[in-house]
Amino acid sequence: KEGLNKTRNNIMEGIDKVLSTFTKLDEEFFEELEEVLLSADVGISTTMELIDELREYCKKHKITDSNDLKKFFKEQLSSHFTAQNNQLAKAVTPPTVILVCGVNGVGKTTTIGKLTNMLKNQGNKVLLVAADTFRAAAIEQLKIWGQRNNVDVISHQMGSDPSAVIYDGLQAAKSRKVDYVICDTAGRLHSKVNLMEELKKINRVIKKEIPDGPHESLLVLDATTGQNAMMQAKAFSEATDLTGVVLTKLDGTAKGGIVIAINRELKIPIKFVGVGEGIDDLKTFDGQEYVNALFD
Ligand code: GDP
Repeated sequence: KEGLNKTRNNIMEGIDKVLSTFTKLDEEFFEELEEVLLSADVGISTTMELIDELREYCKKHKITDSNDLKKFFKEQLSSHFTAQNNQLAKAVTPPTVILVCGVNGVGKTTTIGKLTNMLKNQGNKVLLVAADTFRAAAIEQLKIWGQRNNVDVISHQMGSDPSAVIYDGLQAAKSRKVDYVICDTAGRLHSKVNLMEELKKINRVIKKEIPDGPHESLLVLDATTGQNAMMQAKAFSEATDLTGVVLTKLDGTAKGGIVIAINRELKIPIKFVGVGEGIDDLKTFDGQEYVNALFD
């Protein structure tokens, strides 16, 4: 949990320092706390909301003790996480269809490789579908992860229709009786309309073959890109119904306050976090655990 620990240290050291430095919960105190949250990548709007709520709580309950405030702060963060389901969906009748989207470079292919490994280790049969047909490298990369995991990859030529690959992938998944079929999709954000149309078409094809699918639409975000990741999350959530977020490269940042921002602003559960480049470096994410770790 190296990534999570770094995050924890950064945010909490900051909060602790502010809480212990300031005896009076005055204006200066709130400004310092705001500074800490912003520098941990919590983001402006979430930070403002949190600070406002803390101020209000202090006023309403005449809080002067920083420890009482800490307790409320923990509850405030927890309340959002508890409502979220961080479990990976499982179809009543296999295959479970997982769509994975995200812009290039965030770690989408690597995440699919790691997730395949995790599901295989749990005893599942997995099939991969290379529906990011825009980049030849994406197809090749997925094939490499397929070999590494010893699972088949369904692919077409670069430039072909992603929906056609998905269709073939689902046929193969059904006839080979796999448990999970993971579909890599193109992550071009240059046009939201295009993205929306492509994802819509893909969803239509899946629904026709697997009526209750896709069971997961996961968005992969790079934790080191902070507010940029938040913007991607907003764009994708407007383009399609996301069921979860995978936050990669948490090992590469001491910030990680983006976990709080995603949770507060998008209300999409973070299901996994990436904490390294290796095949085992994907961890399930539990919001409650995260908050507990922040405040322990
Ligand atoms: P894609 O373009 O979104 O498919 O991105 P890739 O999966 O090719 O990953 C881009 C780079 O990020 C590669 O060098 C990966 O090894 C690296 N990467 C992916 N996930 C993680 C992670 O959790 N931690 C670290 N440190 N690197 C990662």
